[in-house]
Amino acid sequence: MKHVIEQKHLRPDEVQTVEELSGEDVKNCYQCGKCTAGCPIAADMDVPPNQVIRLLQLGLVDEALKLNTIWLCASCETCTTRCPREVDMAAVMDALRNLAIREGIRSPERTVPFFNRVFLSIVKRYGRVFEMELIGRFNTGTFNFFKDVTKAPKLFFKGRLKMWPNFSGRKTANSVFKDLERVKDSKKK
Ligand code: SF4
Ligand code: SF4
Repeated sequence: MKHVIEQKHLRPDEVQTVEELSGEDVKNCYQCGKCTAGCPIAADMDVPPNQVIRLLQLGLVDEALKLNTIWLCASCETCTTRCPREVDMAAVMDALRNLAIREGIRSPERTVPFFNRVFLSIVKRYGRVFEMELIGRFNTGTFNFFKDVTKAPKLFFKGRLKMWPNFSGRKTANSVFKDLERVKDSKKK
């Protein structure tokens, strides 16, 4: 299929922002596809990871920001580990999510940003994830009340699902969240 790229769609300034946020130079990628071959989620993505980098190389950042790819990426770093050119793809995905939020671009995977927000608010409160609350709040917030509830008894009896939160990591989490707030404040000045 023939694609025509128009000058008005090119955003070199935004490519530079992605590179600054990720610390990566997208030109280092030579499109071998090893990242995509190892990505456990590639089959569900609109466009596979190597093609996201290709879009950036071409300056088509807006195209990349609209994809579900950046939201489905689980930051597992398989791609980063496999890359023969040492491109940190996971960091690039993270930078793209950051940019999408800054530019107010809504995720095509509506539940992913919601899941992330609930997850972080729980970690902030207890210092660790509390799965029971996470599942309850996520299912309620997405009106999918009975999602995965049949798995709960098995997980509970295997000791994987606790009835009460564990506060053991609260001190560390508090200092991490405080550092984040400080970084945010310093960027505003
Ligand atoms: S593995 Fe590295 S060089 Fe190969 S396509 Fe992916 S990012 Fe590019
Ligand atoms: S970090 Fe994201 S893009 Fe890379 S392999 Fe994992 S899920 Fe795929």
